[in-house]
Amino acid sequence: LEDKQSVSSSASLPRFLNSDLNDNFDYFIKKKLRVWRQLQNGQWESGHIQSISTEMASVLLKNGSVVTVSAEDLLPANPDVLEGVDDLMELSYLNEPSVLYNLEYRYSHDLIYSMSGPVLIATNPFKNVELYGNDYVTAYRQKLLDSPHVYSVANTAYNEMMRDGINQAIIISGESGSGKTETANVALQYLESLGGGNDGIELQLMQTSHVLEAFGNAKTSLNDNSSRFGKSIAVYFNDAGNICGAKIQTFLLEKSRVVHQARGERSYHIFYQLCAGAPSALKEKLNLKAASEYKYLNQSCLGVNNVDDAQMFQILLKALSTLSISKEDQEHVFEVVAAVLWLGNISFQVIGNENHVEVVADEALSTAASLIGCRCEDLMLALSTSKSHTEKDNVAKNLILQQAIDKRDELAKFVYASLFNWLVYKINGSMEKGELQDGRSISILDIYGFESVQKNSLEQLFINYASERLHQHFIRHLLKLQQEEYDLDGIDWTNVEYRDNKDCLDLFEKRQTGLISLLGEESRLSKTSNLTFAEKLNQHCKTNPCFNREQGGAFTIRHYAGEVQYNSIDFLEKNRDSLHSDITGLLLSCSGQLPHLFASNHVDDTSVFPQRSVGTKLKAHLFKLMHQLENSTPHFILCIKPNRKQIPGMFEKELVLKQLRCCEILQVVRISRSGYPTRLTHQEFAERYGILSKFDIIQDPLSASVSVLQQFGIQPEMYQVGYTRLYFRTGQNDALEEARKQV
Ligand code: ATP
Ligand code: MG
Repeated sequence: LEDKQSVSSSASLPRFLNSDLNDNFDYFIKKKLRVWRQLQNGQWESGHIQSISTEMASVLLKNGSVVTVSAEDLLPANPDVLEGVDDLMELSYLNEPSVLYNLEYRYSHDLIYSMSGPVLIATNPFKNVELYGNDYVTAYRQKLLDSPHVYSVANTAYNEMMRDGINQAIIISGESGSGKTETANVALQYLESLGGGNDGIELQLMQTSHVLEAFGNAKTSLNDNSSRFGKSIAVYFNDAGNICGAKIQTFLLEKSRVVHQARGERSYHIFYQLCAGAPSALKEKLNLKAASEYKYLNQSCLGVNNVDDAQMFQILLKALSTLSISKEDQEHVFEVVAAVLWLGNISFQVIGNENHVEVVADEALSTAASLIGCRCEDLMLALSTSKSHTEKDNVAKNLILQQAIDKRDELAKFVYASLFNWLVYKINGSMEKGELQDGRSISILDIYGFESVQKNSLEQLFINYASERLHQHFIRHLLKLQQEEYDLDGIDWTNVEYRDNKDCLDLFEKRQTGLISLLGEESRLSKTSNLTFAEKLNQHCKTNPCFNREQGGAFTIRHYAGEVQYNSIDFLEKNRDSLHSDITGLLLSCSGQLPHLFASNHVDDTSVFPQRSVGTKLKAHLFKLMHQLENSTPHFILCIKPNRKQIPGMFEKELVLKQLRCCEILQVVRISRSGYPTRLTHQEFAERYGILSKFDIIQDPLSASVSVLQQFGIQPEMYQVGYTRLYFRTGQNDALEEARKQV
């Protein structure tokens, strides 16, 4: 992440002496300019240069002491007037300590948003900051405020959509707990303010978050309100610029959480909200107990600091109603939620001497059966036996304890995940008001944040894969495409180096020999195990620089955001995600409206894609998303998590630096700063500004163009002439535009 501009060509001179502003050595000393000095722990402290000899500099530190250090270990600091600038592009010296200091300075003044060239950086305040609400929205819309803000990104997206008729995408990235979902909500708030017609659709938009977060978010070790699914919400506008519809897409909900949570984590909020907040009539109907009574919930943690689950339940009810989910449907939803809880309490007892089990006929069984709408005997049979298809007579085989538990959990997970998808489907139904026009939409993307926890399993692998996919889009647009274009068009351009995550994506996506394919294949075949998978993976991927085999079935992947070790122990099972046919049969036969619907949807699905594993589906879904993104104008927001404790006012420099490095932020700024954002083909330029020239634009568009540039005194360093296009630095064609209007 070293600044190119601060690297000296001569090893014996301090690095900053060849920098862009001052290469006057005496000047630095005379002015006792500020420098950054790196400490042994990697941190930086600032000081003023006192004197300098051939290779050493003496630096006066803040605490009054003077140290003599190798000039090689110094980096230039920015002058005081640049303290806390809005945009990192404005820094005279672009280096890690200067960027960090700038963000920290802003953070300490509650300026949580900063620009880094084209990317908005949002540093999570972990407290309420006075930056939102109608007054702010209006101020940004009327351009009375121009400091960096999500509102301003949303406003730009809106204006560009109306101007160009091209779909826009606000792409929010950042690790878990960095503030993506909050940022997405802030963006949504802005769009909401643009208003709809008479159908109140804008009022529904914000309510979608309440529902999705209740059913799809949970407390994890990294974030008290972690999204366990990916989300893209596309808001559609009519020609008058009013909201006319919205459509949500979700990606892969983590369903293992329904039955099991790691230490200190919770299941989905809805379970606790329902237990705490259901009115007594509903409680009675569902035979609902306190959350602590349910085995799926009482594994580790029941509450979240500063969150009142009962109150959240009221907010949810309001949201469901605003989204036109009928009272009857709402009851069905809660029946399913309660059924899942009661399923978790179903227990088994071992009978006979072959360790076979039968279901204990207790309150849990009877309540679960009644909530699903089936007979107790049918549920008992489905959970304690398995029909074998190999036998001609289709006899049922008795299960042993672990098999029965797995089958019960499979049922619970299936029902819950189906409920989540059904809710999204219903919400979309109520927001799809009229014809949605291509080129008139703004999508807000809040896809999983990179995750590395104590035990990383398939859930983390998929989350991190999705995160890699999105990162590639970021890299491609902000670093790769720009430079490739300069290169192809023969522009004089010094390449800015960056880390591409292509190798890592290859590791996942290569046809046939990539991780997703291999995992799919091993899940499909019989007589395979996580060890045979790990072996195959190693065989095909060992030359990939991002892959490393570990002991047992474990392996490490070097992701763009850090190295993660995965344990493949139940990978195949999770990836297969099959539903026993007798579970489908049970649900199809039951009277509960939703469980029945879920089973028939499943049957339809599997008849279309019988072989598809979870990984293959995710990959296909992400490809579709990428295709949509390629046809949209992107606006990037990078969320930064300033500390691991989730508390306000704490800025851990090395944690922030790691995140900036992963996203190649300095490189992004560097390219933007020395880049040429305004581009016109020779023909376009000549047609637009040719009238200002004395040359004949038809005969010789290039000469006509160059003569215009000279005529208006545009300095040679402010533009470049490529084979096909003319390239300008920001704002350089303003004068031409003005002159053209006068003609
Ligand atoms: P995950 O990937 O786990 O879903 P995330 O990036 O979506 O994480 P959020 O849930 O948006 O993270 O943010 C985590 C927490 O940080 C929020 O619950 C909230 O407490 C706080 N937070 C984030 N952004 C803001 C903000 N702009 N103002 C106030 N608090 C915020
Ligand atoms: Mg989130």
